[in-house]
Amino acid sequence: MEFDLLLRRARLADAAPDGLVDIGVKGGVIAAIAPELGQDAGEVLDVAGGFVSPGFVETHIHLDKSCIIDRCGCAPGRNPHRAMERVAAVKSTFTVEDVNARARGTLERAISHGTTIMRTHCEVDPGVGLRGFHGVRALVDAYKWAIDLQICVMPQEGLLDSPGTEALMVEALRTGATVIGAAPNYDRDRHGQIRRIFELAQEFDVDIDMHLDSGTDPNDLDALLVCELTEQIGWQGRVAFGHGTKIASATPEHQDRIGRRMAEAGVSLAVLPATDLFLMGRDQDHDIRRGVVDAHRLMAQGALCNISTNNVQNPFTPFGDAQLIRMANLYCNVIQRGDAQELRQAWDMFTTNSAKVLRRKDYGIAVGNPADLVVVDAPTPVDAIRSISPVLAGFKRGRRSFTRQRAELHPPG
Ligand SMILES: [Zn+2]
Repeated sequence: MEFDLLLRRARLADAAPDGLVDIGVKGGVIAAIAPELGQDAGEVLDVAGGFVSPGFVETHIHLDKSCIIDRCGCAPGRNPHRAMERVAAVKSTFTVEDVNARARGTLERAISHGTTIMRTHCEVDPGVGLRGFHGVRALVDAYKWAIDLQICVMPQEGLLDSPGTEALMVEALRTGATVIGAAPNYDRDRHGQIRRIFELAQEFDVDIDMHLDSGTDPNDLDALLVCELTEQIGWQGRVAFGHGTKIASATPEHQDRIGRRMAEAGVSLAVLPATDLFLMGRDQDHDIRRGVVDAHRLMAQGALCNISTNNVQNPFTPFGDAQLIRMANLYCNVIQRGDAQELRQAWDMFTTNSAKVLRRKDYGIAVGNPADLVVVDAPTPVDAIRSISPVLAGFKRGRRSFTRQRAELHPPG
């Protein structure tokens, strides 16, 4: 048999409506892309002009604390919310089994919405110990058939002001975490935490992915120190940060300078619109600021930016289904970018750009790459974002990982 899998009449992003191709997969790898590859395959799926994309890439999600909103609750109305404290209050009750079950549910949702590569941030501190980490780590192997899952260990409740946390981070780095994170807003000495994380990253030779610059003062950016340290230790292309809402409060010219600085230092930004929209502007009672960075502006200056989910159904974001197309729709709506070209760029923000953040050299629909493919129920990336189109089927290394049925109407008679 020539192929294990054959996707027939696929439309790739940016292809003309009549420029359909067949994608042949052999041994988990894309073996051929051509207009007519015959029928000689183990599984043949005729997508009939449907849009086929590389699987989606999530770089910033918290599986360990997903789906706990029923335990933590939410402050009603515009009362002070204190998301971190609400999670911290229940974290000591987490067991490995509990984390594993919740994380599994969220991971399966992500898979069913087309995600094939994921970085999950996982917190350790004396309250939860390594239970969150162990609950998530067990999923790395268990779900290899559908997703490449990597763990970024982070000190959500502070590092310097939280004795015992660093030892837990080191233990996680020795036993399966492959990326190091940070949350400097939760230490009194923010820069001290950032510097210590860079030291640990060097010691363990791991990439860095920080929670940075949530707030409103664009003249108080930790991202600038991060750019400086990235250059100092030669980590260009290996450092990412999420949120950066302070950048949204900067003037356009200031934003451009920040974008150029990020590009120069090889530091990328993950926009996390769901959490930022839910948490920002809590000091206001009307005309509430959005606090979502216009990453398109930073990308125009050469910075690498992507979109991610962040929190799912916890006090940081009481909503969510780990659906990246929906997140791109939300982001574009909030930053008021609806032009086709802008939406096309937003598609890259959870595919190509996210893959670059994770330094995947084998990503995309090309001969020789792993056959991580999804069939989207829309003709183009732009249509998919406009209408939050469902993903109908996914393949991980050429093996089908999920199927979603199209809705069917039943008119009378
Ligand atoms: Zn986060």
